[in-house]
Amino acid sequence: MNKQEILDWLKTEDADKLEKLWTTADSVRRENVGDAVHLRGLVEISNICVRNCGYCGIRAGNPGVQRYRMTADEILDCARLAVGFGYGTLVLQAGEDYGITADWLSMIIQRIKNETSLAITLSLGERDDADLVAWKRAGADRYLLRFETSNKELYDRIHPPLQGRDSDRFQILRRLREIGYEVGSGIMVGIPGQTYDDLADDILAFREYEIDMIGIGPYIPHPETPLGREEDRLNAPEGEQVPATELMTCKVVALTRIQCPLINIPSTTALATINRAEGREHGLSRGANICMPNLTPRKYRELYEIYPAKASCDENADESNARIQARIRAMGRTIGTGRGDSLNKTKAA
Ligand code: SAH
Repeated sequence: MNKQEILDWLKTEDADKLEKLWTTADSVRRENVGDAVHLRGLVEISNICVRNCGYCGIRAGNPGVQRYRMTADEILDCARLAVGFGYGTLVLQAGEDYGITADWLSMIIQRIKNETSLAITLSLGERDDADLVAWKRAGADRYLLRFETSNKELYDRIHPPLQGRDSDRFQILRRLREIGYEVGSGIMVGIPGQTYDDLADDILAFREYEIDMIGIGPYIPHPETPLGREEDRLNAPEGEQVPATELMTCKVVALTRIQCPLINIPSTTALATINRAEGREHGLSRGANICMPNLTPRKYRELYEIYPAKASCDENADESNARIQARIRAMGRTIGTGRGDSLNKTKAA
């Protein structure tokens, strides 16, 4: 698909055409990665953050957030829950928290690896090269860093760099692959100022950078952020601004599956948040093959408020697990066994 074709799909409102897009994406998904939905247990290990991302509720500049960092034992308990639920992967996510040191997290990664056969994914922001290398050495398997938007000017506006440091997420993604991580990335759909042209470029970038996993979620305004307060003013001109809707997010999921048949694509929590009744299912039936049930202890969940009213915020791990597994089975899909590594690499090798 070339850029013009992608743009045509992003802009179409023709119901028959869209039906065709959904069925094409669903069959590409089935033929390439199968019916199994792999589960990744998500643990939000800290909401402490040095950054001031314009979109994110746990940005350093939000004084209303009560900050926490989980203990090593709490994280280990989550790993045991993941094993009990039959998950193949544990995802450790946090704000950019330099209290998460190379040594401390290496010790936790080693403990998880000694005790379980879980794959470990890290999603900890733009950390120093030495940290990334240390965690790989300790046993981490994958790293998740969304580039958020491929429009550099828009990215710089919503993601101010730390003083004296450049923020080039594409460069970090290349480096992560070099270090030996399986690499995940992704975007938000409908960022104020994001145009259809930007979005088409994002989809082309997924392929160009051979990313193994792509997370795609709608942008959800958070009232305690600059972007959440000023979004109307920052929008692109009428007709060019991408809407932050479920439909647009599903279009990007479907087009991404068609462009990158072998990669892993999660049906994201943000998608499940803007359509609680069916968002999860729509993602899975329009190209996605992964879900990330939340394992974070109940008492921390509402403190990790990157956007408001996050799905699963009002559940504990048992409830999140049971609900997601039931919904997947009700769709006639199976639960993946094993680690669910990206076929992008294994098939190509
Ligand atoms: N500190 C890590 C993890 C951030 S949370 C990092 O920066 O990589 C993971 C993802 O949540 C972000 O990459 C972003 O795409 C998404 N996110 C953050 N705020 C959001 C919002 N208001 N609406 C939708 N998605 C959001």
